[in-house]
Amino acid sequence: MTTTRFAPSPTGYIHVGNLRTALFNFLIARKAGGTFILRLDDTDPERSKPEYADAIMEDLEWLGLTWDRVERQSERLDRYHAAANTLRDMGRFYEAFETPTELDLKRKKQLNMGKPPVYDRSALALTDDEKTALRTERGNGVWRFKLDHERIEWDDGILGDISIDAASVSDPVLIRADGQFLYTLASVCDDVDFGITHVVRGSDHVTNTATQIQIIKALDGIVPSFAHHSLLTGREGEALSKRLGTLSLRDLRAGGVEPMALLSLMARLGSSQPIELRASMDEIIAGFDLSTFGAAPTKFDENDLFPLTANVNAAKPYALVADDIRALGVPDDLAPRFWDVARENITTLADLEGWWALCRDGAEPLVADEDAEMVATAMTLLPPPPYDDTTWKTWTDAVKEATGRKGKGLFMPLRKAVTGMERGPDMSSLMPLLQKVRAKG
Ligand code: GLU
Repeated sequence: MTTTRFAPSPTGYIHVGNLRTALFNFLIARKAGGTFILRLDDTDPERSKPEYADAIMEDLEWLGLTWDRVERQSERLDRYHAAANTLRDMGRFYEAFETPTELDLKRKKQLNMGKPPVYDRSALALTDDEKTALRTERGNGVWRFKLDHERIEWDDGILGDISIDAASVSDPVLIRADGQFLYTLASVCDDVDFGITHVVRGSDHVTNTATQIQIIKALDGIVPSFAHHSLLTGREGEALSKRLGTLSLRDLRAGGVEPMALLSLMARLGSSQPIELRASMDEIIAGFDLSTFGAAPTKFDENDLFPLTANVNAAKPYALVADDIRALGVPDDLAPRFWDVARENITTLADLEGWWALCRDGAEPLVADEDAEMVATAMTLLPPPPYDDTTWKTWTDAVKEATGRKGKGLFMPLRKAVTGMERGPDMSSLMPLLQKVRAKG
């Protein structure tokens, strides 16, 4: 059965980059009628925080990315111990004692000689006595997985055929000197134990995948299908990594971005298929095809979310926004009508406030010099509120008669005088909502 997972570390809020990973894995599982697991990669006790785990779940729920179960790496340490022992018994695991400074020096030397900065495996040559001495002097070492120096190959779901020379990769550290299991080992154990069939993640994980394939095989596990999506860049192709902090799902949500807008964009961005606003998750699932995604970096522009958000809002039935509208203080008898008029003229729901302020208090009139006289006459012809559906027609007919103005020369100055804006809702529909027209004085 198709089983996928989204595996964030609860060390911060998730952002659009993470969302891409979460969404692809979710969609693969849902499309196949399989299982989607939320795995919290919380092996780092200092940086992992329960409040971030809660926030991640809240953000996924907001988007409707429901998971079938949650797994926590911090609850699986026994399993990682057992796997480490297996690797040790097989002779694929060795302790190394270099300090970070020593490793750095080695890397620099290699780079100076034009060689790739790959760990030189000096620790493999240590005798038991030397190790004991080092342990006494420096404390426990780190544990590295001994890669088989062969080519590691897989058919990547996005990148196509990949072949990596294991000799060009350092033996990965799987256990830190303080005993903490690192992501690579934990992830491999989990993927094997949970029967993960497909792993989609960012292309920054390609080298990890190479080493993980060898570890999975060493542990007798079944290697899942791997796919690596490109990383997001900004509008101009600049790295997005520094700005991701401001592109957290919570910030987008607080900025009024609608879930369907975000999902519709992210399910297609970077693919050969067009971005289309979808009305439901089922449509997003049906329209998803991993094979249409390309390897090139994907440009993300948060401004693209706003036209989509405006369309989502314009299509919302009143019932979905009734609470927001009541919260603004719109009287119940006006509220459905207010929504009908406002919905085509907002981007986010926060824009409703401005439209309600206009209806309630009127707007600062916008009157050009050449229209001042005509507007003054018009205001004498406008009765006091309340207005109804016929007000605009009756009034503009009377102004036309009195001033000889017609067409745009009639309607635009009046719109500007009443609303303070050149554009906006249909005036016949807006008039009945106006509690006040300031130009009337
Ligand atoms: N916790 C890892 C990350 O966020 C998971 C990577 C993976 O999908 O294996 O990068």
